[in-house]
This record gives sequence, structure tokens and C-alpha cells, in this order.
Amino acid sequence: MNLIQINDLFPTEVEATEYFESYRWKSGLVCSRCGSKNIGNRNRDNRHHCKACKKTFSVTNGTQLHRTRIPLKTWLIAFAIVSDAKKGLSAKQLQRNLGLSYETVWKMYHKIRELMAMEKPAPLTDIVEMDETFVGGSPRKAMNPSEIPTEKRKIYDAKIKQYKEAGVSFNRKKGNSATTRLYTSRGRGSQMKTPVVGMVQRNGDVVAEVMGHLSYANLKEMVKRNVETSDTVLVTDSYRGYSRLNTIVEHIKYDHSKTYSYRGINTNSIESFWAIVKRGITGQYHKVSLKYLPSYVAEFVFKYNNRNEDDMFETLVAHAVSPLNR
Ligand SMILES: [Zn+2]
Repeated sequence: MNLIQINDLFPTEVEATEYFESYRWKSGLVCSRCGSKNIGNRNRDNRHHCKACKKTFSVTNGTQLHRTRIPLKTWLIAFAIVSDAKKGLSAKQLQRNLGLSYETVWKMYHKIRELMAMEKPAPLTDIVEMDETFVGGSPRKAMNPSEIPTEKRKIYDAKIKQYKEAGVSFNRKKGNSATTRLYTSRGRGSQMKTPVVGMVQRNGDVVAEVMGHLSYANLKEMVKRNVETSDTVLVTDSYRGYSRLNTIVEHIKYDHSKTYSYRGINTNSIESFWAIVKRGITGQYHKVSLKYLPSYVAEFVFKYNNRNEDDMFETLVAHAVSPLNR
């Protein structure tokens, strides 16, 4: 759905409201307060009057958009813009498009991500690649220089000097200065980053979740929850966290340091998904706090799983009118 189509289909709030109603009440209006079907016409404020309980209700009453003050047409425009932004977009960009306050748009975007997270793919099967990555979260913590052996510090200092001469700035900005990066350990799971574990079915859907601790127990639980284990070959690299998964599923491990792919044994699909996530997060969102990381990941999962058949707009409307469980 593009913006011109939205304007044509929903010239005013009335058409937008009717559209939401068609998703919420597929077989006629029902009072969201008392359940009666004896409903009067829509009032000028787009609320319905219930003849049974004598109260009024709107299409968003008790739904995910309960008590929204934003016009439904604006929500539809936001749904269209966000679904169309394949690589994600910043709340700032969305704000420019919608002309609302940053705070309002930021909240809208988070609600949209929640709606996206409601989509659950069918259990993965066939060939499933599993892998983890470290994204967003807190930036790597700078080491206290006194913890660094003098010899190493000399090497770092020489490097920093060399970079400075080449014009690289070493401002000690919080988090992401080059100095900070130089002084941290690298490798699997640098301490301050948060692991995200993903599984993708070849040519199929992806699931990904933030995992507090990369343990065998957690990885196993994730496989059990998302994979049709009787009918699947799981492909991972030889990281030891995955090593015992063969007890629940057919499992091929391959040595990443020696081979990248052998006759289709690779994790290329999940790695290209990580590339999308990382580009999206660093390019559009800059820094993602741990609190919101799962919802950012959900946005990329949703877009990936809808990449072939793009019905994201309709899905968002359907999820928006689903009951609010609070
Ligand atoms: Zn009623």
C-alpha cells in the first residue's frame, strides 16, 4: 500500500475507521462494552452508540490501539511507511513524514513493532541454519588503562598516535570512540554486547530472539520451541553451545575457521539476515538500548518473513484490532 493509494482509499477518518471495523467485526458490529449487536449509527466522532448499554464505543476500544488519540488514517499512513522501509527507518524520519511530535511518533513506532512481533511463523523444518550474533546493546566497555599490561598499552598508544596522525579523531565520546574500541577484547561474545540467536529455514522464515545467556540449555529450548525437530537437519558452526543439539535434532556442525561452505553445508542464510539486522541498527537507529533490542529484532524478523508476499500492511491492521491483553 503506497501513500497515494491510502489517500484514495481513505480520504477521511470515516473510511479509515470503516477499514479497521472490517477487520475487527467481520460479521457485523458488536458493542465492545456489553457484547450487544443492537448498535446505532456512527456518531460524528466515529464512535458507535450501543442501544443496549446506552454507551458509546470506538473501533479501537479494548484493542492494541486502545485510547489512541492519533487519527486512524495517520496510523494507516505510518503502517504503510514502516512496512515499505525495507531496511528500517528512524523515528526521526517517520516524524518528518507524519508531522507529529517526536515523542508521539516514537511511541507509535514502538507500538508498530509490538504489532509486528505478534506474527509467529510456523515451526521451521527441512534445513534450518542456526547462528548467533552480537548486536546493539550497550557498547563495549572501555577497559581501565591500569588493567592493561604496560607492554600492550605501549602498542595501543603507538597505534593511537599513528591514527591521530592519519587524521582519525580519538575523542573520548561515551561508548563508541575509537579509543574505546581499541582497548576492548574481541572475539565471540565481547562482554558488553547482547547475543541474539537466530534460526532460518532455507528459503523460508526466520526466528530470532535476544538471549541473556548463550547456554546449551537456552539454545536447546529455543530449538524445541521453534523447530519441527523430527523432520529437520540443523546446521550450525562448531561453537560448543550447539554441540549437544544432536540429542534433539539431526545436526551438522561445520568448522567455520576452515570451511565456509561444503556442498550446501553453511549458515549463509542466517548470516545474510544478520547483515540486514546490523545494517539496519547501525544505519538507522545508531544505538539501541537493551530494553528495546527485542522489538527492533522483531521488526527485521517480520520484514524478512514477509519479503516474498508483502501483506504487511493488512497484517498490521489485523493485529492492531486484536484484543489488548493487559
Ligand atoms: Zn453495549
